[in-house]
Amino acid sequence: MRYAKISTAAGAGYVSVEQRDGVEWAVDPIASPAEDPVVPIIFEPAPLDTFTLLAPVRPSKIVCVGRNYKAHASELGNDVPAEPLLFFKPPSSLLAPEGAIELPPASISSRVDHEAELGVVLGARVRRASVEEARAAIFGCTLVGDITARDLQKKDGQWARAKGMDTFCPVGPVVVTGLDPQALTITCRVNGEVRQRGSTADMIFSVASVIAYASQVMTLLPGDLVVTGTPSGVGPLHGGDVLEIEVPEIGTLKVTVAAPPA
Ligand code: ZN
Repeated sequence: MRYAKISTAAGAGYVSVEQRDGVEWAVDPIASPAEDPVVPIIFEPAPLDTFTLLAPVRPSKIVCVGRNYKAHASELGNDVPAEPLLFFKPPSSLLAPEGAIELPPASISSRVDHEAELGVVLGARVRRASVEEARAAIFGCTLVGDITARDLQKKDGQWARAKGMDTFCPVGPVVVTGLDPQALTITCRVNGEVRQRGSTADMIFSVASVIAYASQVMTLLPGDLVVTGTPSGVGPLHGGDVLEIEVPEIGTLKVTVAAPPA
């Protein structure tokens, strides 16, 4: 199943998405996930890009893993971690497809990078899970930009500001169930130029092992979003850039970059 969350004059709701002649269409209203109770909307089927898209997730928390691809750890001069390196992004950082990443004023940060990542949505409550139990709790896959103020990441030690700014977590455009999260090719383009390309088969810690690891210390809830690390090729974003993150089986998440306030 593929689904999106759209906004119409009648309200916001979840819709099934299907390919018709190579174009993604919003087809039928579907029940919303338990963590985001909204009334199903009534609408005429139409190409998905004729609707305003909303973030298709409503996580209680966004659990991310850093340095989960060897080549990316190396490019920033870091060793490969012995255990998953976890951090959070706040739900307030979520950005809908076609939204705009807001660069902070230069007085706060002058280096904001793209990191293209696979996002995994949980479908069950998970606490102190085995890897097998964690795998069974995976509901679906989506695309995430782990937007990062690289200078603040280095300066602060803690990554709350660097990773947690409003708009620093673009997500979508759809959630897709039934995919193998370790068999996907993820590509990042800026202004049409490929900047990152990697296979999720190259993750140091699998999605299920990251979920199991996190669940030893925190309860993960249905709808929580796990952001699984970025392949190599990270680089800066500037005002006016167009950022695209693509996994063919999921689609393309496209957002723009708004220049910082003067
Ligand atoms: Zn990342």
